[in-house]
This record gives sequence, C-alpha cells and structure tokens, in this order.
Amino acid sequence: MAEIKIDQLIRSHRRTIGLQITNDARLIVRAPHSASEGFIRKLISRKESWIIAKQDFFKQRQNKAVIRKFVPGEEFLFLGESYQLVAVEDLPKAVVLGDSLMISSVVLANARDHIENWYKDQALAYISQRTANYAIMTGLKFQSIRINSATTRWGSCGYKDTLNFTWRLIMAPIKVVDYVIIHELMHLKQKNHSRKFWAEVAQMMPDYKQEERWLKHNSHLLGWA
Ligand SMILES: [Zn+2]
Repeated sequence: MAEIKIDQLIRSHRRTIGLQITNDARLIVRAPHSASEGFIRKLISRKESWIIAKQDFFKQRQNKAVIRKFVPGEEFLFLGESYQLVAVEDLPKAVVLGDSLMISSVVLANARDHIENWYKDQALAYISQRTANYAIMTGLKFQSIRINSATTRWGSCGYKDTLNFTWRLIMAPIKVVDYVIIHELMHLKQKNHSRKFWAEVAQMMPDYKQEERWLKHNSHLLGWA
C-alpha cells in the first residue's frame, strides 16, 4: 500500500504529535520541533487504519454532497421541510418562502447568491430568536451571534462568549437546530466536552444523542458542493 501522504506538517512548541483529518480529507500533522521525520512516519503507520477510515468517510461525504444548479424545480430544505424552487415574475424581494421557495425571475441568473443570502438572513433571524429564548430559560448570557458558512462545524462558542452558527444549519429539522443552540449555550458554562458538559446538555434535551446522530448521518443534506 502506498505511503500515507502528509498534506500539511505544522511544527510548534507542543509536546505531542497530533493528527487531524480535515473535512476535505486532508491529513494535517502537528508535531514538536524535536520530532524526527522517522518518528512521525512511524506514528502515522501505526494510525494508518484510523486515518484511512476517516479519509474515506470524508471522501464519501463529499461524493454524496448535493449538486445543485439553482434552477426552478429543485428542492431546498428549510427547517427540515423541503420546498420546490419556483421562479415568479412579480416578487417584492429576491427570494420569498411560501408553499414553495419563490425566486424573482429577474435575479434567476444569480440564483445561488440570492438563495444563499436568503438562508443567511433566515439563519440569523431564527437562530437569534431561538438562542435568546434558551438564554432566558437557562439564565445564560451570550455576547452576540454570528452566522458563518462553515460546512461541518455547525456551531461554536467563541472568544468573549460570541456564539457562531453556520447558515447551513437552518436546513436541519427544528429539533436539530435546537440541539446545536443548546450545545453552544452550554459551552458558556463549560468550555469543553467533559461529562459535566454533556450532563448539562442532557438536562436541557434528554434525547440530544438522537439529534447528534442525525447531524452525523445527514450533514450532506445541509448545503451543497
Ligand atoms: Zn462543543
């Protein structure tokens, strides 16, 4: 079998070697300055099956990624429901959600940009509202909410208690969105994934594992290549 390729080697003052497979299936190795090439190679060959399994998973997911042309007739998810894209002549805005996802025929040539912007607006409005509600319920305080375009990191709790969410999340069912919001809110208390952290999450959402599983198996549905 061919030697596993290291896509990026990052040397630093750390003491141990860290292996990371990115969501585009690249292998990133973090190593101390003192670690020899041979030592790193040896570790990689010991972890070979783990690396290959992870890379396969991400490659497979890339293959499953939804290919879109952003043309009328295609289906788009919003909060777990599927809507057909329909071009409409007289629309007050570029994109409007009704029984279908309506797009103004005037902007059809740039449908992708307009649809993505619409998703970002919806994500910000919906997630802000929902997070504010949970914050009141739990007595937790966050600084602000930001929407990004991350492809697999659905949410994160950043520096200075800013909560970040990807707009893609708004395609998932409401319960899944709620789970990610609760997860990030609980990071305001616990900045780790300790048992205490998961206990806090479970207290808010006892069956959160179901939602986590949904994300794991359906991430290819959230967004497009
Ligand atoms: Zn977390």
